[in-house]
Parts: sequence; structure tokens; C-alpha cells
Amino acid sequence: MTTSSPNVIPYARQWLDEDDVAAVCEVLRSAWMTTGPKVAEFERALADWVGAKEAVALSSGTAAVHAALYALGIGPGDEVIAPGMTFVATTNAIVFQGGIPVFADVTPGSLLLDPGKIEALITPRTRALIAVDYTGHPCDYDALRDIAQRHDVALVADACHALGGQYKGRHVGTLADVNIFSFHPAKHLCTGEGGMVTTQNPEYAERMRRFRNHGIATDFRQRAEQGTWYYEMVDLGYNYRLTDLQCALGISQLRKLPQWLRRRREIARRYDEGFRDLPEISPLTVSPEVSHAYHLYVILLNLDRGQLDRGRVYKALRDEGIGVNVHYIPVHLHPFYRQRFGTGPGLCPVAEAAYERMLTVPLFPAMTEEEIDRVQAAITHVVQLHHRSEASAS
Ligand SMILES: *Cc1c(COP(=O)(O)O)cnc(C)c1O
Repeated sequence: MTTSSPNVIPYARQWLDEDDVAAVCEVLRSAWMTTGPKVAEFERALADWVGAKEAVALSSGTAAVHAALYALGIGPGDEVIAPGMTFVATTNAIVFQGGIPVFADVTPGSLLLDPGKIEALITPRTRALIAVDYTGHPCDYDALRDIAQRHDVALVADACHALGGQYKGRHVGTLADVNIFSFHPAKHLCTGEGGMVTTQNPEYAERMRRFRNHGIATDFRQRAEQGTWYYEMVDLGYNYRLTDLQCALGISQLRKLPQWLRRRREIARRYDEGFRDLPEISPLTVSPEVSHAYHLYVILLNLDRGQLDRGRVYKALRDEGIGVNVHYIPVHLHPFYRQRFGTGPGLCPVAEAAYERMLTVPLFPAMTEEEIDRVQAAITHVVQLHHRSEASAS
């Protein structure tokens, strides 16, 4: 989505202004390339934005999930419950830590982790639940918190889709014990690659800062300030640092988040209205208790209506220059999970059935009015055409 042919409208695209470029150039001319003052500044800015006590920057959203699970002490043999409908990075991090992913199904309509399906999966080895705010719709955190408390397990929010969202007036980023964001160019803010974990727990934040720097208790800048060469590696960590260059970009991008969120919601409203009278498709449902962050706009094709075929609709839209996509192939259907954990079809029937019907429609703040109209017209035309041709063939 960072590069595409000029006539294709991608499903997502970053937005960069001259002030973003200037912010990066300023760091390029400074003494700090990697861990310098911009890291702490970006962490503070994002923590304040969501209203969290602590934020820890990491080199990607994936590194952020990994660090979050490390901070919670997830280790070999620990079971972690996660939805089947998510990106592989969510559950890969469980495996990085030697844990066992346990796949829970989602609610029809919203495709969010179904609180009613979790308790049957809890065992004495369960250590955490990961809620994924799929498409930018915050999960039902009151219900999930209740389950987590009753069973004494941690609650994790993979909020990579949901920066700027709210649940019952509370900000995403404050709703779980650890809350994960990504700054991949398709997401709300772009730092090239990058991620962040927000938490109310200073101990978790400290563990994640150590984890991103090889398990060393102090970072280079702290040692320079203290005039000492001495350091101790107290646990096994990684190099998961986010650079000053990237953090400067993140700080600059964050200033524009409110206006970009407004634009994302406006485009979603246009789609809602445009698709309302099309029986061939159903947009995902939205709870009145949330403010949706609209990372993605996902529609479900009503396959019972004239045997609309997702593969053919996908191809027809691509041919018209509409960069539709599919988010996601259920994680438990991937060969790695089938082979390593014996997962497969039937484990999460709602997620699997939705996968067969879903398409992600282009949505990004830089979309022009003309592009929104083009997307809507093409989708309307293609689904009606396929609906009719199938109906007349049968
Ligand atoms: C993007 C994403 C991630 C990973 O983020 P990266 O920055 O690409 O590593 C994790 N979980 C979900 C749900 C995502 O969408």
C-alpha cells in the first residue's frame, strides 16, 4: 500500500506532510539516530493522548505484542486465549514466548472476540486473554474484564486497529492491562515500522523497556548521562528499539490524529449510507457503546443472495482499480498452526464462515471525494451484476 499503480485505490495509505519530513530531517541533523530524546517524547505524547500512565515504544506492533506478553510473564506451556479472526502477529507472539494459543470464536456481525465463548476454553494453564479491536471497533471490555478477573488471568488489548477509539467513553489504550498499537503505514499513524504498548502498571513498563534493549537494565543514553560504562543484562531480551528518527515522525503524525479520525468516520458514514439499500452486502455491525476508529471498513457478501462469489467479486473490483483486500484468513487455518498446534477448520465456525464472505473496502484519510464515489459505484455495480448473472443462470 506504500506504492501502487496510480489508478488503483489501495485499501489503506499513509499521509505524510512537509512538517513530517521536516521533523525527521531535524533528527537527522542531531546527534541521536536511535535511542535519544524523541523516544521519551513520543511515549509521553501517546500516553497523554490516550490517558495512560505509561507508554513504551517498540520497533513494530509485532514487537509490541511480544513485549506485552513478556511483561505479563507469559512463558512455556502457558495458554493464552485469542480470537481466530486477527492478524497472525497477535498469536505468533504467544508462540515466541513458548506459550500455547487457544483460539476463541467471534460474534457474528461484529467479528469481535465473543465473551460467551471464552469460559469454556479456560483451564488451569490459562494466563491471559487477548482482545483484538478488529477493524477499529473496541471489544466488549466490561465483559472481558469480568471474565479475566473471575479467572485471575491478564487482559491484553491488541488495539493495533483502534487508536483513537472509545468504549463507553473510555479511551482505547486504557482498557486492558497492556494495550498494543502499530505504526505500520496502513494504520492510523505511520513511523515506517513501529509500535507502542500503553499500561497503567510502571512495573510492566520497566520490564518492556528492558526487553526491547537486550534485557539490559539501563539504556545507552542513561549511561551517558550517568557517566558510566557499567551495565547488567538481567534477562534475555531483543533489539526491539524504535529510533529517534521514527519517534520524531510519530510525534508529528500524532498531532494530526484527531482530524484523520474525523475523516475516517466521515468516509465510513458515506459507505454506511451508500450500502444501506444493497441487499447483496452487509457492513459489520457497530455497537452504540463505542466510538469506532475505522482502521478498516469490512463488508460481508450475502452469498445466499444469488450465489455471490467472493473470489469473482474480488477480481472484478480489482479489475476496476478498487484495491479491495481480505482481513483476515483465520489464523488457525494457516499451515504453521495446523502443524504445530493441530488446529483446523471447525475450531471457530463464525470466523471461518465470515472469512469466506468478507472484503475490505478502501478507507484512508487522504481519500478524495471522487475516490469515495468511485469505490461506492464500483461495489454497487459489481455486486448487482454478479447477483443478477448468477440468478439468471440458475
Ligand atoms: C498490524 C497489526 C499487528 C502488527 O503490527 P506491525 O506493526 O505490522 O508489526 C498486530 N496485530 C494486529 C491486529 C495488526 O493489525
